[in-house]
Amino acid sequence: IEQTAYQNDKLAMLGKIAAAIAHEIRNPLTSIRGFIQLLRPALVDLGKEEYAKIMVAEIDRANDIIYEFLNSSKPTAPMKQTIQLTSLLKEVSMLSESEALMHNCQIYLESYEADLQVSIDVKQIKQVVLNLFKNAMDTIAELDGDRAGRIDVILKRKADFAEITVKDNGKGMDRATLNRLFDPFFTTKESGTGLGLSVSYRIIRNHSGTIRVTSVAGEGTSFMIYLPIAEQKV
Ligand code: ADP
Repeated sequence: IEQTAYQNDKLAMLGKIAAAIAHEIRNPLTSIRGFIQLLRPALVDLGKEEYAKIMVAEIDRANDIIYEFLNSSKPTAPMKQTIQLTSLLKEVSMLSESEALMHNCQIYLESYEADLQVSIDVKQIKQVVLNLFKNAMDTIAELDGDRAGRIDVILKRKADFAEITVKDNGKGMDRATLNRLFDPFFTTKESGTGLGLSVSYRIIRNHSGTIRVTSVAGEGTSFMIYLPIAEQKV
């Protein structure tokens, strides 16, 4: 099954609204969280410690959503810098190594192009790749150790674009999930925000690139990011 990302104005609008009210919501959330912690001993006495846990977890999730929204609603014009994609991928892979091991999975980096220059906002593209890794680890974690998890990162040249593939051997997706993947707030995870891919999509579009995804339920998923190759200065 294959799905190409589509235009997504909804996120930009919601992002503006969220940025405007985020601070006002965060403060009361923080104080509620504090009072729940204070009530914890009383709840333990009542044998209801579980309630405290749930409330704190839900407040943290709300905070995560606000945090991601604030991030995604900041000025979106990329701060561009010409770099080699291989070095960025190496760095992000290294950063993610220990977390990957905790998820019983390994990251394999295969670069067919040692010299692919792109003009990108390094921070933003790192965020996109990290998010793809995170999703891959999440789906691998759901395998319950059925098979060794692996994330293959493959860098290739495709015409005027650099193609970064992030391939996992996780659970894959059904068509219903594939169709909604890039929707803001769409998540199948208990504590997901559903913002990772919609934000990633927007970042890649702002770089004049695209994201594609192919997935086979039960076998795994590949995300392909395309970024325009920077003109070589002679
Ligand atoms: P979140 O990770 O918070 O759920 P995302 O926007 O990153 O938000 O992802 C949306 C949904 O897309 C996930 O909840 C999951 O169902 C699906 N998804 C994303 N990446 C993968 C993947 N590599 N394998 C399987 N499903 C995925």
